[in-house]
Amino acid sequence: MAVDPLGEAKGRLEEIQAEARRLQRQVEANSDEVLHQMLAALESARVAREQRARLEDLRAEALYLRMLHDLPIEDPAVPESRRADADRAWQELRALLQPVRPSAKWLEKIRELELSRSRGPVLTPEERAELERRLKDNVCPICVSYALDGSCTQEAFETCPIELFLGRLVALIQELGHRPWMEDYFERMYREICPGCQGRTGKDFCPPREDGDCSLFTYLPTVVRTIEDFLAERQAGPRA
Ligand code: SF4
Ligand code: SF4
Repeated sequence: MAVDPLGEAKGRLEEIQAEARRLQRQVEANSDEVLHQMLAALESARVAREQRARLEDLRAEALYLRMLHDLPIEDPAVPESRRADADRAWQELRALLQPVRPSAKWLEKIRELELSRSRGPVLTPEERAELERRLKDNVCPICVSYALDGSCTQEAFETCPIELFLGRLVALIQELGHRPWMEDYFERMYREICPGCQGRTGKDFCPPREDGDCSLFTYLPTVVRTIEDFLAERQAGPRA
């Protein structure tokens, strides 16, 4: 039976909508629960503060009486407020309540689609599969994340950055043409790829790059050579 991409897409969209509605209800229920617990915690903190204030008054009164009657002064016992633990929990909670981005995989697919709409497709699905195979052959065996059984052990990204940014890399290399200096490719990568990558945590600071976990940065020369060879072969056309 012939595949109907439009029908498949419509079916998938219905599934997405159903799952999104279900998740939305769950997120709202969990967010309500978080708020409810926070209000309860706030009330407990208010009560504990009043109790601590009353305790401080009692301790001050005891000190006053001991001073007045020259009685020995005892070391005042200070109740534990758990402030440091509460600060940590609060910071974690605030971080968890921050807006969430879609995963890099989907953002990159959308960017690639925009790119191909404005400039024409960078790679056909078959070309992409062939280029991914060549990159795996050329880069994976020299990569620190490559295991002897042929699997990939990198954990910094859900998808290898070379695969994730392949469409933009090809477009970038096509635009740039061949350059004898790798710095030109690095510079374009920093300018066009890194700003949209979740690995970067601040301007020009990227922990995966510093830790040797970004295969794209570490093996860029091999990646560029593989893509250039592929593009040159594609331009030359099929061999007779
Ligand atoms: S991180 Fe990328 S290049 Fe390295 S082994 Fe995994 S798939 Fe291959
Ligand atoms: S160097 Fe950092 S920001 Fe750039 S692609 Fe690699 S992980 Fe992403």
